[in-house]
Amino acid sequence: MKILFATPECAPHVKTGGLGDVSAALPPTLARLGHDVRLLMPAYSGMKVAGDVLASVDIPAEGQWPAAQLLEIDPGNGVPLLLLACPSLYSRAGSPYVTPTGADHHDNAIRFGFLSHVAARLGTARSPLPQWRADVVHANDWPLGLAPLYLAQARLSEPAGSVAASVVTIHNLAFQGVFPIGVADALGVPWQWRGMDGVEFWGQLSMLKGGLQFADAITAVSPTYAREIQTPAAGVGLDGVLRARAGRLTGILNGIDTAVWNPATDRLLPHTYSASSLEKKALDKAALQARCGLKRRADAMLFGVVSRLTSQKGIDLVLEALPALMADGGQLAVLGQGEPALHDALAAAVARYPGSVAVKIGFDEALAHLIEAGADCFLMPSRFEPCGLNQMYSQAYGTPPLVNATGGLVDSVTDSGASSTGTGFVMRSADSEGFGEALRRARAAFAERRRWRGIQVQGMARDFGWERSAAQYIEVYRQAAQLAGVAV
Ligand code: ADP
Repeated sequence: MKILFATPECAPHVKTGGLGDVSAALPPTLARLGHDVRLLMPAYSGMKVAGDVLASVDIPAEGQWPAAQLLEIDPGNGVPLLLLACPSLYSRAGSPYVTPTGADHHDNAIRFGFLSHVAARLGTARSPLPQWRADVVHANDWPLGLAPLYLAQARLSEPAGSVAASVVTIHNLAFQGVFPIGVADALGVPWQWRGMDGVEFWGQLSMLKGGLQFADAITAVSPTYAREIQTPAAGVGLDGVLRARAGRLTGILNGIDTAVWNPATDRLLPHTYSASSLEKKALDKAALQARCGLKRRADAMLFGVVSRLTSQKGIDLVLEALPALMADGGQLAVLGQGEPALHDALAAAVARYPGSVAVKIGFDEALAHLIEAGADCFLMPSRFEPCGLNQMYSQAYGTPPLVNATGGLVDSVTDSGASSTGTGFVMRSADSEGFGEALRRARAAFAERRRWRGIQVQGMARDFGWERSAAQYIEVYRQAAQLAGVAV
């Protein structure tokens, strides 16, 4: 199958969260399974991509769309990278989505509308690449939401079966790409699709809704999240659309990139270890304590957090539980960035518990790895979590996670109380009582060295590799192709 994986971010080039990791790992796994996969993303300023340039194609200006260039680069992982170069849209300071001060780029609708437009064209006879046309366009999150709509539009004028099938993946339904409906002209959304059955969302235009309405298949990043988002409580206003398309919706748990997240080979760790040399994990704990200015105590139960600091992640529950976390010499190391109020509250926690609480505000890949390895227990009490990666990393690193019972956390962590093959601690309610209760159980288990080791080893033995998920995506692509009448 010829598969175009279209995304606004991909590690290590540009990453703001889990989608960056998925984009780096899923396409090469699909390629290893024998498919012809290419990855499309914008050429942001400052990106350094090593590899041979395979092609450079001019995309002339057309209607409302600007002229651009498509650079095809071989990064050596089996997935040619298609970089959409259009400096007026993508060369600027900030992240893919926001300016350095945190405001949305003013023209995000056009920036990602254009990316979606090019993604769709790569699935039609008008593909800008002379030799290559996708059978399936895999659109990720709201920035690619309009790609399925543009493909549906192409089907109106091109012969049946000659336009790629479309799959849209929801990595986080909370981000929907909502803009004033007036941008529909600039985006070229046909009149008949500007209403409720199309992109209209409470009088505005939602790019993600466009994807959900027009995609041949929809996936969400875990089976539990796929169910949750069909309810008003977790549907963020799109649950009705998702219920209407439930037959097209599948939940597929993300994997983790075991070439990057493996404690036995991790180059970012001062000391590597495996399940059979778990005692060396203590060296990483000491290194983490030294690096963060925590007291060098081997026996302290050290809790770790690596997270976007937003209300989604339940950091307030961690802060509320500080006295219980600090009991018996407990320690806490936090890495993250996000809402200023949480930055302030964490700074206050450091001042209150010097040498026991350490906080680093910022994005730091090496410290993220060191926390996964050096902490004893990883905290992830998210209010909602489409999939979540850190709880899988922490299990692989022998750092049992304490998680809320939501989304992908349910699908990837087995409660140690509920099962003798438990790998972590699952909260029984999504509040401070639930956190406190799970914390007491984690502390009790930590106090029993053999039991703790059993939980660690069971987590490390779990297979979170991408192969299983990639096979499920292939199945979804096949179904989508069949529905779209594309022969694969
Ligand atoms: P989300 O996508 O909601 O942010 P995930 O758990 O799915 O959450 O993925 C987060 C990814 O980003 C993980 O790879 C995590 O290690 C990484 N990450 C988050 N915050 C930071 C940070 N401050 N520094 C380094 N890595 C981070």
